[in-house]
Amino acid sequence: MIPLMRPTVGPEEADALASVIASGWLTQGPQVLGFETEFAAMTGASYACAVSNCTTALHLALLAVGVGPGDEVITVSHSFIATANAIHMCGAEPVFADIGAGSYNMDPTSIEVLISSRTKAVLCVDQIGMPCDLQAICAVAHAYGLAVVEDAACASGSMILVDDQWQRIGGVLSDVACFSFHPRKVLTTGEGGMITTNNPEIDAKCRLLRQHGMSVSDLARHASNRVVIETYTETGFNYRMTDLQAAVGREQLKRLDGIVAERRKLAKRYGELLMPVNGIIVPQEPNWAKSNWQSYSIGLPEGADREEVMQEMLDRKIATRRAVMSSHLEAPWRGARHAGLSRSEQVSAAHLILPLFSGMTDAEQVSVVTALSEILAEKEWPNAHR
Ligand SMILES: *Cc1c(COP(=O)(O)O)cnc(C)c1O
Repeated sequence: MIPLMRPTVGPEEADALASVIASGWLTQGPQVLGFETEFAAMTGASYACAVSNCTTALHLALLAVGVGPGDEVITVSHSFIATANAIHMCGAEPVFADIGAGSYNMDPTSIEVLISSRTKAVLCVDQIGMPCDLQAICAVAHAYGLAVVEDAACASGSMILVDDQWQRIGGVLSDVACFSFHPRKVLTTGEGGMITTNNPEIDAKCRLLRQHGMSVSDLARHASNRVVIETYTETGFNYRMTDLQAAVGREQLKRLDGIVAERRKLAKRYGELLMPVNGIIVPQEPNWAKSNWQSYSIGLPEGADREEVMQEMLDRKIATRRAVMSSHLEAPWRGARHAGLSRSEQVSAAHLILPLFSGMTDAEQVSVVTALSEILAEKEWPNAHR
């Protein structure tokens, strides 16, 4: 079987876990602090706050920029449903912008018409690891006084060109960025999330809310040689990351450059192999972005039956997944406000994610592309234009 994804983990992560267990400190403590410091350094952000997953990261980031009941947040429908759900968790409503032509990311020119008196923020997504056009999105949002929250769930290690400098996602332009460490992403801690920002108030708010609104962290209390009694200034949550997860995350960070370099090499090879396959749309990287290629998503020839292609690939022991969903087509978000989502719908219906994982061999990539081109060549779909 050729899998879609495989986490890049080994004895280093296992040893790190064993030493945390031996230490006796199992949740949000020294390992979390170490992971935060190292993750902030990796992104170039001033602050990083670890949490339980990216959905809770988005919840806190939105609260920290002031999103609350009755507000609207402009986001993309074309994302994993957690993006829209996080807005709902604040009592606010998502308003959906379409994606750009030939892109899986928010079309910056589609934001302005959606702005209302209730709009509080723009929640953009670096979809499947490809940076969105942050510069253009921030220009529109900031002109209207809207905060920009970045769903960078898939984008650990992706880069964007700002003022002729390559910068890691999470350190520039947006007000706050949120990352995921689910096993389907390039770095994993099993479950986990991180919030990066250059704004000390946003960081402080996230730290407060992730631990029940408690005024003093356990780490600070244990470090003090005076008795410390904490206070609770507002209603918070339990969104802590454990020290077990953080210790794994610190080992994962050491692998990041290698993982991204390998994924970029595999993506480039896919581009070359897929070029001769009729009707396939291969993903394009803008000259101002370097994707970590968390997923490699392609467009199928017009009229192709995606489910049939996926089934035939599975019959040949090759895993695929449908491409990014459109949240407005699912029950919770069918009534959400938007101004046309035809590109989102088209891509969600016709695109497909191919296997891409550490250690994938050239022969495995050739098998994937050969299987795909054979399946497409054999089929006579009624509406196909190939
Ligand atoms: C995976 C993902 C999330 C959710 O991350 P979790 O850590 O599983 O909560 C949110 N947004 C996007 C774009 C994602 O891909």
